[in-house]
Amino acid sequence: MNFAEIKALDDAYVLQTYGRNQVAISHGHGAVLYDTEGRKYIDFTSGIGVCSLGYANENWAQAIYNQAMRVGHISNLFYTEPYARLASKLVPASGMSGVFFGNSGAEANEGMIKVARKYSYEKYGQGRAAIITLKNSFHGRTITTLKATGQDHFHNYFFPFTEGFRYAIANDLESLQAQAGDDVCAVMMELIQGEGGVNPLQKDYVQAVARLCAEKDWLLLVDEVQTGIGRTGTLFAFQQFDIQPDVVTFAKGIAGGLPFGGFLTNEKCRTVLRSGDHGSTFGGNPIAAAAANVVLDTLTPDFLAQVKENGQYLRDGIASLQSPYVSGIRGMGLMLGVGVQGMAHKELKNRLMDQGLLALTAGKDTLRLLPPLVITKEELDQGLDIMAKVMRV
Ligand SMILES: *Cc1c(COP(=O)(O)O)cnc(C)c1O
Repeated sequence: MNFAEIKALDDAYVLQTYGRNQVAISHGHGAVLYDTEGRKYIDFTSGIGVCSLGYANENWAQAIYNQAMRVGHISNLFYTEPYARLASKLVPASGMSGVFFGNSGAEANEGMIKVARKYSYEKYGQGRAAIITLKNSFHGRTITTLKATGQDHFHNYFFPFTEGFRYAIANDLESLQAQAGDDVCAVMMELIQGEGGVNPLQKDYVQAVARLCAEKDWLLLVDEVQTGIGRTGTLFAFQQFDIQPDVVTFAKGIAGGLPFGGFLTNEKCRTVLRSGDHGSTFGGNPIAAAAANVVLDTLTPDFLAQVKENGQYLRDGIASLQSPYVSGIRGMGLMLGVGVQGMAHKELKNRLMDQGLLALTAGKDTLRLLPPLVITKEELDQGLDIMAKVMRV
């Protein structure tokens, strides 16, 4: 089917909930994508930070095929090898104690919230269930994670929302302290706010929050759905903030393009959720777990060092454009936000796409770059050439 045919079916039959780019992607290789009309794109999106190994990765595709030919799904009433192997790598590498597998970021965050509330309920009883999250955050699209998201425009239409969320200003300890109270059980945050505009939290702030949490026995909940699994140049971003969360979530990049997610807990929270307290039909699916094993095996120390180096290379390359449209560059590893001025961020994204570079937007004025972690210098250079063409005057 060509673009027009696909779009006609979408218009006729699919709920129109996305502001889509007027492009239908057909296939790709590495960090290069092709649309149905044969146009080529350098990909600085990875979906939205999902396709960590790029497109058509041989090992990834082979692992999926092999597992599909053995058993594609069986319920969690049985053991299977792929998720068990994955857990045995993920838990030690993160310094956590145990893991729960689900399918998506929002589902992972829901589970993390359940851990916090049950931990507090068992220790302190009812009435200590409030969770402080940060303004400008993004935690998902379910009724509860929408309410956890610290952006007012997500709190419309779907009333009644889950109670018990309060919001503090990021990087402002006093604002957090002002939300304190006997009813609080946890603080939940992204270390780089992704959808909110690629805003990294300050290290001393994050450490001060961790200390405050330890002091008050609030759980420190870190949402690494976007920042996790190598995106920032370490397995988890928290490893560069020198903190250890009580619970941390992951999703987007974990299985390189298959739906997968989950959360890790520390020793203190390891037995909070027990038999019957939580579950997920598809969670730990053998095919998705087999794919995730390939992703984790790829994230060697050398590979992660390369992610940091390529992130710096891309950053330097953008800075050297000296574009009047760039107000600043933020982020870590291959998660970069380019502040856009003098043009709407969506307009810039569209102009780059017209010239063959895919990028994302975030917040009000940010171009968000999340290239596949396997992107090569040559592919980065091709992307930078397109940025130069569009953004230099
Ligand atoms: C994308 C994202 C989510 C939601 O993930 P879904 O898989 O879409 O449910 C939650 N938190 C953060 C930080 C995200 O970037």
